Amino acid sequence: MTTYQTVNPATGEKGREFPTLNEAEVADVLTRSQSGYEAWRHTTLEERAEMLATTAALYEKRADELARIISTEMGKPITEALAEVEISTAIFQWYAVNGIGLLDEESLDVAGADESVVHKRPIGPLLGVMPWNFPYYQVARFAAPNLMLGNTILLKHASSCPQSASVIEEIFQQAGLPRDAYINIFASTDQVADIIADSRVQGVSLTGSEKAGASVAETAGRNLKKVVLELGGSDPFIVLDSDDMAATVSSATKGRLSNTGQACNGAKRFIVLADVYDDFVAKLVASFEAITPGDPLDAETVLGPLSSQTALDDLLKQVDTAVTDGATVLTGGKKIDGPGAFIEPTLLTDVTPDMAAYSEELFGPVAVVYKVASADEAVTLANSSAFGLSGSVWSADLERARDIADQLDVGMAFVNEHGTTLPGLPFGGVKRSGFGRELGSWGMDEFVNKKLVRVS
Ligand code: NDP
Repeated sequence: MTTYQTVNPATGEKGREFPTLNEAEVADVLTRSQSGYEAWRHTTLEERAEMLATTAALYEKRADELARIISTEMGKPITEALAEVEISTAIFQWYAVNGIGLLDEESLDVAGADESVVHKRPIGPLLGVMPWNFPYYQVARFAAPNLMLGNTILLKHASSCPQSASVIEEIFQQAGLPRDAYINIFASTDQVADIIADSRVQGVSLTGSEKAGASVAETAGRNLKKVVLELGGSDPFIVLDSDDMAATVSSATKGRLSNTGQACNGAKRFIVLADVYDDFVAKLVASFEAITPGDPLDAETVLGPLSSQTALDDLLKQVDTAVTDGATVLTGGKKIDGPGAFIEPTLLTDVTPDMAAYSEELFGPVAVVYKVASADEAVTLANSSAFGLSGSVWSADLERARDIADQLDVGMAFVNEHGTTLPGLPFGGVKRSGFGRELGSWGMDEFVNKKLVRVS
């Protein structure tokens, strides 16, 4: 039984609970989403762009209030919560400005007819299944391109962030979006399966765990529905050399600890060449030890609690298992005494391929560091993961770094930065990190009918 409720992970305090839909309500939202589509698809591109621009303006105006909601619901430090509102605003704004151009028709010069034109048309109601780690950003990157396109959305958010889910819907309505074009649904897992199976729903996009992704994709496959999956990652952060190790370590710290380590594209495996390994590790340990988790609503806090007590228990279990299996804790590794789902920033080494910690995603402020003898070995280790979301290469030698970046089996490779996300850049992975892309023109290319009209 799914319960939609806010539980502040910094205190354990329970907040509002929201009722799950009943069967009649599920039927009703499906009908509304379809009729909403029949109206929304016939609005002009200019009207849709204007709605997105108004949405962006509202996010900007309500930034403080929105940030507080997610800090309270999932523990994100308030400065990062404000940054999330800012990137979400930028996404709505980007599609408001660029969306119309991305929907231009394409004339093909193909012999045998007077005209061959490809139009980009919407396909219908879509289901979004979204996680708690970036409650606004994850929804923005799915909703903005699809609303611009003329699709309508049913959005099932994580059960732990019902207040952020509700305010997203409220802002769309405030921005003038017809109420049936975006419907927040507090649905159970079974209801999600029924919704995917309904003939009116044309596709589903999920961000979350492999387990949830596999379940949703299975139902979608059985019902011949298109799926976009943005799943986990175990991103490598490869240090070849450095002419400023303090700066590299500062980026490593941010790459691992931002969002309290709960980002699919967080830097999770530090793969460091032997000649810089000792320097890197000493500085990373010092950097982790300088950080004390604190109240997410305090502007000085850089590390908050994990999103829930369950998330903390699961992560501690993974660390304990790693240690039992022979890993060494260089720093951290323990729950912080007192209320709240707090854990010390943790650095593990001596992790070997036979251990679970080698292959599992560690969704929290726990890093694993590996020493390698060569760049080739770094690539082999990086690519040995079942995940393939993103990865970064750090070096003063850009040619060398570019070459290594090119060899990574990932959807996004960075040189001298990690995990950058911008509205115009594609986001997504390969292997068990999922398939499909979000953001930029690629995000608008997933649930679109590229419709050929040929006139002879
Ligand atoms: P989940 O994958 O369980 O949750 C993400 C979303 O999927 C939520 O809305 C959830 O709903 C929904 N969901 C879960 N199972 C199903 C299902 N069978 N059918 C339909 N919807 C489903 O993530 P967790 O919160 O449990 O986190 C577990 C792990 O997932 C993390 O440790 C991390 O490894 C990974 N994860 C990855 C994220 C990413 O950004 N790629 C984001 C979040 C988690 P509900 O909340 O109601 O269960």
